[in-house]
Amino acid sequence: MSLVKDFDIAIVGGGIAGLTLAIALNSRSIPFTIYEQASSFAEIGAGVSFSPNAVQAMKVCHEGIYEAFEKVCTRNVSPSKQKVWFDYVDAYKDVTSNGTLDTAFTVSNSLGQNGVHRAQFLDEAVKLIPKHLARFGKRLQNITEDRNGRLVMRFDDGTVAEADAIIGCDGIKSRVRQAIVGADHPSAKPVYTRKYAYRGLIPMEDACAAVGEERAQNACMYMGHDKHVLTFPVNHGKTLNLVAFRTTSEDWPDSQRLTRPGQREELLHDFEDFGPAAIKLLKLVNPKLDVWAIFDLGHPVPTFYKGRICISGDAAHATSPHHGAGAGFCIEDSAMLAELLADEQVKTQHDLEAVFATYDAERRARAQWLVESSRWVGDCYELRAEGVGNDFTKIGDQIIERNGIIADVNIEEMCAKAKDELRRRLSKPLG
Ligand code: FAD
Repeated sequence: MSLVKDFDIAIVGGGIAGLTLAIALNSRSIPFTIYEQASSFAEIGAGVSFSPNAVQAMKVCHEGIYEAFEKVCTRNVSPSKQKVWFDYVDAYKDVTSNGTLDTAFTVSNSLGQNGVHRAQFLDEAVKLIPKHLARFGKRLQNITEDRNGRLVMRFDDGTVAEADAIIGCDGIKSRVRQAIVGADHPSAKPVYTRKYAYRGLIPMEDACAAVGEERAQNACMYMGHDKHVLTFPVNHGKTLNLVAFRTTSEDWPDSQRLTRPGQREELLHDFEDFGPAAIKLLKLVNPKLDVWAIFDLGHPVPTFYKGRICISGDAAHATSPHHGAGAGFCIEDSAMLAELLADEQVKTQHDLEAVFATYDAERRARAQWLVESSRWVGDCYELRAEGVGNDFTKIGDQIIERNGIIADVNIEEMCAKAKDELRRRLSKPLG
């Protein structure tokens, strides 16, 4: 276990990145405080799925995160689909005479589909953070440095706080990212991917009646021209999580607000050419639902750190959700940052820049690859990606290869390699 550290860390933002980092630091006795702009930790009532790399990273952060995940996790229901990540189907086809939908291809991994209801996962995870280490209603405004090298954070409520290092987990519109790259840098702002998504939750009984048990109870991707719908079970199989994506040539009206209220009628209009089975499913979402603009960091940041300030999670590498891996990569970041900060050679404020430089060197290429690849596979699902078009065999091959890059990794080894690199950097004479 780590020796007592002569430094303290500020975590800005309490989403999946900030929370998993906080839990990981707490379990390694690394002093920290978490500053969240909202009045409490909160997640939206939608699903999120995790691939095997994410599950490994949870265990590296803290076994309790993995236990929280297991408690609320829902897997595919059919015994034959336990390793299936998604079955991909042609959205224009109807159910066959035996009541099932033909599968175009299947993508599997070592754990299969693992879906959680975000708010349920969060409720379990926050139990692992001592209450006195979280400050709410603290919206970061700016960061300066005092004469002793302490970083000073000013919040919108007029208060200030200090720390030796700041880790920005403040999401896609990150203030901390702006402090690192400059407010005018292209990567300071997220980019609209020209896709938006309707998100809904459907009672499983109704979903089974619409598309049959096999499709409703196991993860499924409905592929169509310029649009796709994904579904996976959450809430221990009682609810179906549905996300319906649409590509558009129009701009998103307001980049400050990434969601807008929507209606089922709009959704049905957008997907009107889909086959009867998919339409039946779409008719089951609530009459009022949110529409999400899919933004990402299409302009990659040149660095994840500057001095003793760094960024993690969506603040560093916000991605479109088409690989279902953004949150998993947040947890990978947390695992690596915690392991580096816990290293026994990291003792004082002076060692922290080397930690962040190592984290940047070890994480940035993988995370930025995800952002790019996710856009590309999103187009694959919509039969519009260059070089593959509507060739299901080629699409399947691409998705399998790319999902392998995400899932077939060893997170402990990744962290051990980063620690070797950190020690090399710390052993180099200054200057
Ligand atoms: P956020 O969740 O945005 O949290 C940031 C926190 O910082 C918030 O609590 C916010 O209030 C706080 N904050 C912001 N600014 C400030 C400030 N100035 N001061 C203080 N606090 C601040 N990923 C997956 O792995 N699997 C999936 O299936 C999946 N599905 C997705 C579906 C959709 C439609 C979308 C949009 C994303 C999906 N993702 C998925 C991606 C995943 O949701 C994100 O990568 C992840 O939630 C980001 O977590 P975060 O903690 O980095 O950021």
